[in-house]
Amino acid sequence: MLHKFEFDGSKIVLDVHSGAVHVVDGLAWELLDDCCRMDKDEILQKYRGRYSRDLVVQCLDEIEELRRGGLLFSQDFYRGKYNPPGAGVVKSLCLHLAHACNLRCRYCFAGQGNFGGPEELMPADIGRRAIDLLIDRSGGRKRLEVDFFGGEPLLNFEVLKELVDYSRRRGGENGKVFSFTVTTNAVLLNEEIGEYLNKHGINVVLSLDGRKARTPLSGAHIPGTTWIFVQMCCTWRILVLIICR
Ligand code: SF4
Repeated sequence: MLHKFEFDGSKIVLDVHSGAVHVVDGLAWELLDDCCRMDKDEILQKYRGRYSRDLVVQCLDEIEELRRGGLLFSQDFYRGKYNPPGAGVVKSLCLHLAHACNLRCRYCFAGQGNFGGPEELMPADIGRRAIDLLIDRSGGRKRLEVDFFGGEPLLNFEVLKELVDYSRRRGGENGKVFSFTVTTNAVLLNEEIGEYLNKHGINVVLSLDGRKARTPLSGAHIPGTTWIFVQMCCTWRILVLIICR
């Protein structure tokens, strides 16, 4: 099985079962489809006038060589040998409370917080249904975890609070104990939020990505990003895990 996709102007082919990755040109990109359903004469006829005969033959030979080497059209070694373990047990959820962010980091993994789509906040109803799903799928597990994530989850602080209350109430009814984490850029932390997080024992993860020169709060605007975060955490007396990358 092949998975073909384009990224940043490159044509990439993943041979799923071997794991081999090939970066190919336009001719090979097309031939990989045609070589499975047409014979050699039909292929040469189809490409006549667009590519030289020698080039097409050479490309077909290379495809065949990779096929023989197990790097293209490889067989599924596990076919018939692996039985997926049914629905499985779910013990944790990562809830995207906000597909939006108050920062605009150039290196953002999430498209500046919206993951390439419209900026949206998760409605409480969706969050409650996710919590219900977690409880329903958790089997015999007693301890469950929810990470409030984004974008910037503190943009949706009211829903965060509602979901913490809902989880604890539903957990109590079902013999489950919830723990929570919020992964935040910390800019929206204030006394009210700090007190709430401490009161409810919610773990805070700060992710400081990038060197000082590339972080959005550094340089000419506000120097010393890390120090500012540490100061904010001390100010609100929040216990944090700071990840510097
Ligand atoms: S703070 Fe995080 S989510 Fe927001 S723009 Fe920066 S990297 Fe993206």
